[in-house]
Amino acid sequence: KVRVRFAPSPTGPLHIGGVRTALFNYLFAKKNNGDFLLRIEDTDQNRYVEGAEQYIIDALNWCNIPYDEGPGKDGGYGPYRQSSRKDLYKKYADTLIDNGHAYYAFDTSEKLDFHRKDHEEKGKTFIYNYHNRLKLSNSLSLSPSETKAKLEAGEDFVIRFKTPQDSQLQLHDIIRGDIKIDTNTLDDKVLFKSDGMPTYHLANIVDDHLMQISHVIRGEEWLPSLALHQQLYDAFGWEAPQFAHLPLIMKPVGKGKLSKRDGAKMGFPVFPLTWEDSVGYREEGYFPEAVTNFLALLGWNPGTEQEIFSLDELVAAFSLERVNKSGARFDPDKTKWYNQHYMQTQDNAQLANAFMLNLKNRGIPLPQEKDNANYIKEVITLIKERATFVNDFWDLGSYFFVAPTNYDEKAVKKQWKEDSAVIMTQLLTLMEGIDVFSSENLENQVKAWITDNELSFGKVMPPLRLVIVGEMKGPHIFDIIALIGKKDSMDRIKTAIS
Ligand code: GLU
Repeated sequence: KVRVRFAPSPTGPLHIGGVRTALFNYLFAKKNNGDFLLRIEDTDQNRYVEGAEQYIIDALNWCNIPYDEGPGKDGGYGPYRQSSRKDLYKKYADTLIDNGHAYYAFDTSEKLDFHRKDHEEKGKTFIYNYHNRLKLSNSLSLSPSETKAKLEAGEDFVIRFKTPQDSQLQLHDIIRGDIKIDTNTLDDKVLFKSDGMPTYHLANIVDDHLMQISHVIRGEEWLPSLALHQQLYDAFGWEAPQFAHLPLIMKPVGKGKLSKRDGAKMGFPVFPLTWEDSVGYREEGYFPEAVTNFLALLGWNPGTEQEIFSLDELVAAFSLERVNKSGARFDPDKTKWYNQHYMQTQDNAQLANAFMLNLKNRGIPLPQEKDNANYIKEVITLIKERATFVNDFWDLGSYFFVAPTNYDEKAVKKQWKEDSAVIMTQLLTLMEGIDVFSSENLENQVKAWITDNELSFGKVMPPLRLVIVGEMKGPHIFDIIALIGKKDSMDRIKTAIS
């Protein structure tokens, strides 16, 4: 059975690369009728951030990619937080010591720093491996009784993996294919520490095994760990899961990985919790559908021109074989384009609630007849086509709520002619007599009046828009007039000509 996991470390807000990893795991699980697990990898107590776990859970739920198993959702493989599994790792470290795949090391950090510096000065890199092992303080260079004495004296130790010398590893990644690694280039990674905590490597492998993970789908930054992980599975005599390392997400321009700085303005995390510097996608006004849609196409391609995918469509179309090897460039404009697309599919009543809140937050006092969900909904119907975010509604449609107090200078110069005031006065008289104030009826009446009086459209329509809106933008003018109503429209014309 397909079982995959998202295994974040709760060290801060969940950034967009993390959400992409979670999404690809989710899509792969659902596509294959499998399980999607959330495992919290919190063995590094120094980097633990209060609240980050809840943040991760909220972010997945907001994106509509909830986990099947994880904290608070026991599927029989729990607990799902590594700090709660603390006691089970030691025996696995011991197993590796017993079968000769790991050893105790007692080097102080000063000693290791010294060796690193010393190598650096000679233009070399220090690798803790077959080459240097015997010069250092560990159970491969000490006698068994010396090792025992150190352990009994309570000296600080770590347990390191004993990387074999002169061995060629054949690794396989679903996305990258076959990978060959010479073990002499690897160092003996720390698996366990005397504070009783496993490192990421040991805990990750033990948990993936115990939780029966079938596929490990994670970011490319973990590819260098694959050699060790494969060796750990072999050392335990366990069957390894299949691996798929997702391409990096690259900066919008130039070289390199997308960094927090590129994303800070774009709303890099899904949403902030208490991290002051982070504006999130949710706060920026992104819709979850837009986020999952653009993320899916960061590194995966459907093999067709299709760009718009619902979550269900993504599940149906997804495969790891279609994940690209090369880095995926993050495109802020495309990201917005997706939001603008999903803006059109949002429910207007819901958008109206969001806009109402937005108006309140801006401190805009609304006239009574305009301060209601229905009116706001109508406004949204007229302007949403041009909007990317709820936050744009005000810029696109403030004139639906407040009469213009000044007029766009350029437009005035161009559109307001000598006879404009006279024509607007005549138009007022016409409007006075129109009872059915619908867009259609207004349009018919005004057009007929223009023809009957041998006026030109150019003399009537631009000045009309100018006095109603304040500038030359906006949807169909009769839609606007019908919505803001007879009294308000006429008042605006009167103000302009007075
Ligand atoms: N805890 C690791 C992280 O924070 C998990 C890496 C993996 O999926 O193996 O990304």
